[in-house]
Amino acid sequence: MQKLIKKSVQTLTPYQSARKIGGNGTIWLNANECPLSPNELLNHLNLDNLNRYPEPQPQSVITAYANYAKVNANQILITRGGDEGIELIIRAFCENDECVLYCPPTYGMYKVSSDTLNINTKTVPLTAEFQLNLAEIEKNLDKFKVIFVCSPNNPTGNLLNKDDIIQLLDMTKNKAVVVVDEAYIDFCVDNSIVDELNHFDNLIIIRTLSKAFALASIRCGFILANEWIIQSLQKIIAPYPIPTPCALIAESALSDTGIQAMQDKVTITLDNKTWLENELSNLEIVQNIYPSVANFILVEFKDGQAVFDTLWEQGIIARNQHTALNLANCIRISIGTDKENLALINALKKF
Ligand SMILES: *Cc1c(COP(=O)(O)O)cnc(C)c1O
Repeated sequence: MQKLIKKSVQTLTPYQSARKIGGNGTIWLNANECPLSPNELLNHLNLDNLNRYPEPQPQSVITAYANYAKVNANQILITRGGDEGIELIIRAFCENDECVLYCPPTYGMYKVSSDTLNINTKTVPLTAEFQLNLAEIEKNLDKFKVIFVCSPNNPTGNLLNKDDIIQLLDMTKNKAVVVVDEAYIDFCVDNSIVDELNHFDNLIIIRTLSKAFALASIRCGFILANEWIIQSLQKIIAPYPIPTPCALIAESALSDTGIQAMQDKVTITLDNKTWLENELSNLEIVQNIYPSVANFILVEFKDGQAVFDTLWEQGIIARNQHTALNLANCIRISIGTDKENLALINALKKF
């Protein structure tokens, strides 16, 4: 019977999400979440229509996000997290031998979603500075239809050069769409590529409420793109993707006070990151701290596996990057609360 499952699924290596990896944690620094829940958003939820199907694309959320991102309402699609956005784009653009191209080390879902849909992938690794290798991408222009780039990049934490992304948009015009994954852009919002939506109709941007907005559990993301792309994606998204409670929480998070609260948390997170970087730089076991503009840092240790295991045993769960391209001995650490960061440093000092 198991043979009935299609080949691409039988052989699939699924995404190892932070939750699936498990661990007996008291301190969770492995999924780049905000360490505190925005419970204040739950105060005024009016949940008296749960018997009705939700609005397919809740207008109030669209309007609020359009305001926040400074785009038009017809340039937005709400998705179940950024991850659904990734899959929808591949489903809408690729078939048979039309490849997805991505640039490792980067986010794992570009490959997993492609594999799931039986779409071939091609990789052009980032340069030693974790930037796009445009010359190598250009050599492969005929081979792909969708290219995923991630800025700020996960797991390295750096921004891609904006000029490079613009060059990429130029060289792929009429040939491929460029998907810029901006899951972490709220930590450095001036660096968004969003203004280019009006210059390039092959640009697609992925956003999420899971990181800076501290709402990973409500599964709310956004695709920003030109109207013709949004309309095409609307044809293939599930009929009622956004549950009403999630839409209400999202709307509240995107109100003026919600955005202010998010920005306050971003400031605290970035301060805590600076503190953590300083402390780490004093440790003998640390080889290199990669500069990050996001809410996590990539750290190279002298013996990454040993450090990871020791933290794990103490209930401090980080993200091992040892299998990622060129990231031997590297661990990605999400910025936690003051207390969590201190516990992490104390554990590393004892190592
Ligand atoms: C977290 C993340 C996402 C999407 O997360 P969702 O929770 O599905 O919104 C997308 N891209 C990157 C690079 C991420 O780190």
